[in-house]
Amino acid sequence: MVQKRLARGGATSLLALLALTCGAAPAAAQETPAAVAGKLRDAAAADDWGYRFLERLTSEIGPRLAGTEALTRAATMAQRELSGAGFENVHAEAFPMTAWIRGVETGEIVAPAPQHLVLTALGGSVATPASGIEAEVALFRTWADLLAAPPQSLTGKIAVVTQRMVRAADGGGYGAANPIRRAGASEAAKRGAVAYLLRSLGTDNHRLPHAGAMNYADDAPRVPAAALANPDADQLERLTALGPVKLRLVLTPTSNENASSVNVVGEVKGSERPDEIVLIGAHLDSWDLGTGAIDDGAGVAIVSAAGRLIAALPHHPKRTLRVVLFGAEEMDYSGAAYAKAHADDAAKIALAGETDFGARKIYMLAAPAGSAKSEFTRTLSETLVPLGIYLGRDPALFAGDDVRGLQTAGVPVISMRQNGLDYFDIHHTADDTFDKIEPQELAQNIAAWTAMAYLAAETDVDFRALATAQR
Ligand SMILES: [Zn+2]
Repeated sequence: MVQKRLARGGATSLLALLALTCGAAPAAAQETPAAVAGKLRDAAAADDWGYRFLERLTSEIGPRLAGTEALTRAATMAQRELSGAGFENVHAEAFPMTAWIRGVETGEIVAPAPQHLVLTALGGSVATPASGIEAEVALFRTWADLLAAPPQSLTGKIAVVTQRMVRAADGGGYGAANPIRRAGASEAAKRGAVAYLLRSLGTDNHRLPHAGAMNYADDAPRVPAAALANPDADQLERLTALGPVKLRLVLTPTSNENASSVNVVGEVKGSERPDEIVLIGAHLDSWDLGTGAIDDGAGVAIVSAAGRLIAALPHHPKRTLRVVLFGAEEMDYSGAAYAKAHADDAAKIALAGETDFGARKIYMLAAPAGSAKSEFTRTLSETLVPLGIYLGRDPALFAGDDVRGLQTAGVPVISMRQNGLDYFDIHHTADDTFDKIEPQELAQNIAAWTAMAYLAAETDVDFRALATAQR
């Protein structure tokens, strides 16, 4: 059993220690940014405030589906927590969205061997008739096999794709398999299918299906879509190899086109150039099957805890640090909403990053483009060495779905890569719960994000200029 407890009650004394050791000395002995970053890193590594915030979020709120009252409660809690943690300008920025609410979801093999199937509707899916859909299976072992099926070849059938997602430390197998979930229902419907199932995008072998969003193409009928637990996909592979298989499917989700959500914001005002912003984010919303601990309660805790430690410094860094807790990542709304709302002031954002990959340890820093030789990246990479993090050869190309819109608008990005070898065992399942978080690993993330955010806000390095010069 792993030791799960950090020293409780240590937070207040750590903050007092930071205040004493960072800047209380006379101006002549003013500490270097590297020294302050090192102290922040060490204070964060021993602090349990982030872990306790994550415990409160996942226990007192629980699942936080975007566009629902649960997200509203989470946003209220988040604003209270940020205010209590010393952030300024704490507020929520609303945006419209279509909410999707899960209904009944059952599946069963009707013939040749009647049995229950474990599955979950995809986010955005339409419902089956209340009485369900009963049809023969057309099973494809790869996505390419489905795409190769001729028009009308699936008329009246339930199309099933059982391609396996690849397990990898950087999580790359997920992106590679994403079209199977995103586009599968429409590709199946174009060929005449009446419903669509896929093997869950997950690397486990438990009877827990993985939720996730999908989109309909404009040029295909809208058919219901769901993800099978991986052992149930295996079962269908075995049975269809023996002969025809008939399924019955009941899915009753609903949509609300007039829903809304919010992005929650808090700031640590810059001491010299408050109009320049370093933005660090995570997403407050989650899927509804678990309580959103690894995805992305952990990220919420990481960036909030980092801001709290920086807010406690007697001398704030030069730039403003802005923490954004995005309110509809899973449904693909919050990043675009933020970029749209801030189209006119995106030029003031000096650097952006998002943490949305669980709470396993960070192993690599992907620095902003063109910054490899800068004082910022040298100091940061040296500060991260004791945490077991190396400077990657390649710059950050992607920093998270919620900051992609800002990146497209020209905002430089930074990324820190976490060990994701088991992330997709749990991701989007009922098993995404607080007990999966290892406090020491979460604390390592907080330490790295605190040091990074402080140095990015304190430096005079112009990340835009470096990225432009490199092009
Ligand atoms: Zn996420």
